[in-house]
Amino acid sequence: METLVTIERAIEIARRAAFINTSELVSLSQAHNRILHQDLASKVDDPRFDNSAMDGWAVRSIDQERVEVNTAAAGSPPAKIGEGEAIRIMTGAPMPEGADAIVLIEDGLQGKAHTNFIRRQGENLSHGTVALRVGQIMTPAAISLAATMGHATIPVRVKPRVAVISTGDELVTPGEELGAGSIYESNSYGLCALLEKIGCTPLLQEVVVDSLDALRTMLNSLDCDVILTSGGVSMGEFDYVRKLMEQEGDIHFWKIAMRPGGPPLFGTWNGTPLFGLPGNPVSSHLVFTMIVAPWLSPESPLVNQVRVRLKDAVKGAPNKVCFRRIQISSENDQLVATTHTHQGSGNIHSMVAHNGVTLLPPDTSANSGDIIDALWFL
Ligand code: AMP
Ligand code: MG
Repeated sequence: METLVTIERAIEIARRAAFINTSELVSLSQAHNRILHQDLASKVDDPRFDNSAMDGWAVRSIDQERVEVNTAAAGSPPAKIGEGEAIRIMTGAPMPEGADAIVLIEDGLQGKAHTNFIRRQGENLSHGTVALRVGQIMTPAAISLAATMGHATIPVRVKPRVAVISTGDELVTPGEELGAGSIYESNSYGLCALLEKIGCTPLLQEVVVDSLDALRTMLNSLDCDVILTSGGVSMGEFDYVRKLMEQEGDIHFWKIAMRPGGPPLFGTWNGTPLFGLPGNPVSSHLVFTMIVAPWLSPESPLVNQVRVRLKDAVKGAPNKVCFRRIQISSENDQLVATTHTHQGSGNIHSMVAHNGVTLLPPDTSANSGDIIDALWFL
């Protein structure tokens, strides 16, 4: 077991654990946000044939005068024109044989003939071109492109099924009555939403009380590819996730050099990879964002790294990368960042009131006016 590892090392260690990577075929209407499992080549030229980019007439550019002889709509079979002839043509209709120019509808039939308003066969993609590669996230545009290329179904990565378990005697499900000393359980809902965002299937479990037996029973009952727990991983007397993993599981690392988010662990329970996330709500979100997401779905990052000019001073952390919550906005062609709320790792409001975090290297604070690295939430 390694302790107090860097973020990069944590991901590297987790990558050594076996992880499912199988493929299934889905229809395009089911493909949104899925991750492509194979390269996709186009089955057709795009455009399939030379066609008009505008509504107007298809003409011969050498003719001085023309008469309209026919009409071509999108979907019509290609027509043919001879000397002095014009065909009324709609956007997307095949260019008639013999025509080499388009006269725009607004210019009238004897108007200027343009040779550049023709979309040429294959100018976007030719038959056989690989335009979507393995690992591509099927965004709305990627789905349209797959359809353009003639694919009715596509091979995508099977979604990892990830169990989400909150631990803690104090946790009460929202909607139920709070007792003295109890609080609403919140981490599991955010973690399930994060999992959906990166293309996984979350399996939300009941809250587990702080007891070795209850936790063991829960872990043994799971049918999933990956386990995420929250809470119970630090030095406290009732931190039973760490204790159980230490005694009966297999821990690969414990503690990451980041703040917030210090005490997570990674290991396996009966061969299933398990991330023990910290209980503090900001910590569990940030450890998921920085470690779990890049490991589970490297194709779907949750942050974008940018440079920002600070408008408020921010304090770093000894020996740890420090993620202060910041609001990033654009000002005079530059990204600037401000801070607004209490920065405690228990304050989930700070993750909503801001749209990013600082990426302060260990032992580094920064002043107002400094330009620093930051992560912008996607
Ligand atoms: P722990 O890591 O179990 O010591 O928890 C650290 C802090 O996070 C404590 O204040 C817990 O009450 C809180 N916490 C733990 N789990 C959750 C959860 N699922 N939802 C909200 N807060 C939590
Ligand atoms: Mg706890």
